[in-house]
Amino acid sequence: MSERTITPRKRIALIAHDNKKAELIDWVFYNRGVLSRHELFATGTTGKLIEEAIDRPVTKFLSGPLGGDQQIGALVAEGKIDMLFFFWDPMASQPHDPDIKALLRLGVVWNIPVACNRATADFLLTSSLLTSEYESSQTDYSTYLNRSV
Ligand code: PGA
Repeated sequence: MSERTITPRKRIALIAHDNKKAELIDWVFYNRGVLSRHELFATGTTGKLIEEAIDRPVTKFLSGPLGGDQQIGALVAEGKIDMLFFFWDPMASQPHDPDIKALLRLGVVWNIPVACNRATADFLLTSSLLTSEYESSQTDYSTYLNRSV
């Protein structure tokens, strides 16, 4: 088991499906003070709305259905995203369902905190670990990497 050190200043990815955007933006605005101490990333439309709501720059990627979820997933795999707040819509199917599943999977593969609803987001944001260094234990994938093929 190896570890990844997560610094006190977190790299936070934010994504919301259309029916969940108002809820995420409201949550971000309410927590703008706490979030100001961290670095924000988002899919295209979500990021634009966050910038408008809290008047600070967000690193924006493509819109989710155009590849934004995959871009964020790549950063998770590279250890460049520390936390994911992903308000996905449980009541509507999405054109990019495979991308959503892939991103949620990578969150588990690389053991980062993932909040998919507001209650979990509240618990994560009020955790004392948010502003401290954290050693995230990483599953040992060496057996898989060294498998004979
Ligand atoms: P959006 O993408 O922020 O560009 O709307 C979110 C998504 O649907 O994954």
